[in-house]
Amino acid sequence: MTPNVALAAIVFAPALALGSFLNVVVARLPERRSLVRPRSACPACAHELAWHDNVPLVSYALLRGHCRSCTAPISLRYPLVELATAFLVAACFWRFGLSGQAFVAAFFVAVLVTLSAIDAERRILPDLIVLPATAIVLVAQIALFPDRALEWVVASLAASLFLFVALVAYPAGMGMGDVKLALLLGAALGWNVSVGMMLGMLFAMAAATVLIARHGAKARKMAIPFGPFLALGAIVALFAGGPIFDAYLRLF
Ligand SMILES: [Zn+2]
Repeated sequence: MTPNVALAAIVFAPALALGSFLNVVVARLPERRSLVRPRSACPACAHELAWHDNVPLVSYALLRGHCRSCTAPISLRYPLVELATAFLVAACFWRFGLSGQAFVAAFFVAVLVTLSAIDAERRILPDLIVLPATAIVLVAQIALFPDRALEWVVASLAASLFLFVALVAYPAGMGMGDVKLALLLGAALGWNVSVGMMLGMLFAMAAATVLIARHGAKARKMAIPFGPFLALGAIVALFAGGPIFDAYLRLF
């Protein structure tokens, strides 16, 4: 086992716990509720969760996705956010080792998971997460890689400007939330943000094509959030952006 694989394995359980906290953020932050109090409770019957009903993944599996008290279904979002956070954070340490870069990447993917879940549920990308996260990533990137300071700043602004122009030209399908999210993507990915956004748009187009094939004209009225697709493109670019960028250049 290489050191990085061992590191990723060690990080997995704490990352699951982080995912559990991110679920609280997803549920409460958009409603401006406190992230620390009260304790987690069933949204259907308000029954407070005991610690053993609040263990990441395990509790969901043991309760078979239903509240112990009222048997109301628990959203599949809970185990999905926990699993996505655990795998992605572990992947950051596997890819970047025990380094500042791994911590920035782990922070970035955790924010993307949170934003994707909120966007999928509510069609919003809260400024309260996007803007502070962008500032934190930008400061960390400049501190870690000062010789690339210009890249982080320019990529951030250029990515955002690109989506802003797209939004003005084609207002359907996107919002200002996506334009601000691009600031974060550029700050985290540098020039690779071009790969991330191109993939994000391809994923969104693929999803829209599937919807239209299935639902025909009705699909035009179905608003699909763009944020999760941008996030997915950014995550692919984070781990494989360099090789994809090089392969693309070799086409010419
Ligand atoms: Zn309940």
